[in-house]
Amino acid sequence: MKLYNTMSRQVEEFVPLQDKKVGLYACGFTVYDFTHLGHLRKYTMDDVLIRTLRHAGYEVTFVQNVTDVGHLASDADTGEDKLEKGAKKYHKSVWDVAREFEEYFWRSMDLMGNLRPDHSTRATEYIAEQIELVKTLEAKGYTYIIDGDGVYFDTSKLDDYGALARLDIEHLKEGARVETVPGKRNPTDFALWKFERPGEDRAMSWPSPWSERGFPGWHIECSAMAMAKIGPQLDVHTGGIDHIPVHHANEIAQSEAATGKKPFVKYWVHHNFLQIEGEKMSKSLGNFYTIDDILQRNFDPMALRLLFLTGHYRSEMNFTWAALEGSQKTWNRLKTKVMELHAAGGPETEASAQSTSPSTGEQDYLTRFFEAMENDLHTSEALAVMWQVLKDETLSNQEKLRLLYQFDQVLGLGLEKLEADEAGSIETKTLPAAVQKLIADRQRARDDKNWQRADELRDELYSLGYKVEDTESGQKVTH
Ligand code: AMP
Ligand code: ZN
Repeated sequence: MKLYNTMSRQVEEFVPLQDKKVGLYACGFTVYDFTHLGHLRKYTMDDVLIRTLRHAGYEVTFVQNVTDVGHLASDADTGEDKLEKGAKKYHKSVWDVAREFEEYFWRSMDLMGNLRPDHSTRATEYIAEQIELVKTLEAKGYTYIIDGDGVYFDTSKLDDYGALARLDIEHLKEGARVETVPGKRNPTDFALWKFERPGEDRAMSWPSPWSERGFPGWHIECSAMAMAKIGPQLDVHTGGIDHIPVHHANEIAQSEAATGKKPFVKYWVHHNFLQIEGEKMSKSLGNFYTIDDILQRNFDPMALRLLFLTGHYRSEMNFTWAALEGSQKTWNRLKTKVMELHAAGGPETEASAQSTSPSTGEQDYLTRFFEAMENDLHTSEALAVMWQVLKDETLSNQEKLRLLYQFDQVLGLGLEKLEADEAGSIETKTLPAAVQKLIADRQRARDDKNWQRADELRDELYSLGYKVEDTESGQKVTH
């Protein structure tokens, strides 16, 4: 496996810290507004990376957090907490906003076919770990307090601060980061723990050794949760390219200062943006579409997934409805092909696909497909191999379907599930949004082994005229 490492700016051979074990941490979503297609691109490509690593034989522990406190509007430790901003915008409590947008995030992920993390950690549930980490940094002499403001990390104590972003510290010192907090010793210093100001009356604040009430800085959250679930060193850490200069530079600084172990992260993976009309699709700019916009226009989430797969994760991608329309046609073609192959007698299940050893012709395609995937996720090359398979007249239907199922282990298009869906059940995307939500909620309840809730939701769906059966490949809905 080869992976581009932002730290070295090179594609490197992937060698985990320990045997075949991989600790992977993905910076999670800040739950103050809707999950949009830009986020979906990032988390879908994370999903493809994780599936590819697992397919290559690595045992991946996948941790992803939920940022439900402390992410300030500005990277310079100023401005409002984004969660407070969301609460004002939607006239709800901060806690309601956090939980509702978290639910929306998971529903969007499920519809995109993204696998759930092994550990999903909420920042508000790791306050003690974050305080401990700040205490360690304080004991080691890396912190200082700005009265009435917070506990700060002194970046001048490290001689390699900002190596990830190749930051020009001297230049920054001359005042490039214009907006700054009075009392910061260096422009790159950052808040570890913020104090609640008198009269601020925050819904989310906790006691700490430094002030009666306060809340964590966004960066310390990720270090504390990653260390709690994986350990002092990670194999892979992912995030969007916007995280390189500040968030990830700060995660490295505080983690390595606290543990004394280098590196905090062996491979840094950064995703480029999904743009719209030449600008980053973003919550703050308000130029975004959600998964519901996709469903309402009768597109299939898998058409969107296929669209994401046509680009490389390190390149920008411009979102247009025309491109999605093209992708929907491609997806329809692929679906039809799979159904035809199945009708003509392909393997019953993926398990049976794997139990038969591949022919020479198949082996050649498998090699080419997985070489493309394992070479820094060249998904468009891998898709090209897939289309060649479908056109190859020397392969039998059985062989073609077997190959498709194996490719799909990393593409995640749910090709095998397709057959189950088509066998009398209704495709979820054609259902009213409210019904889809109930189905997604029920899937969550089942994932959480909350059988009572799953039964309640089954009854609710039944009262709306939808019958749900649980099959090996998921919920089957009939009208
Ligand atoms: P946030 O909730 O804003 O912290 O974003 C969650 C993740 O999505 C981060 O890793 C961001 O870098 C990433 N992200 C946000 N907007 C986009 C976009 N338009 N395209 C790709 N990734 C994005
Ligand atoms: Zn993070």
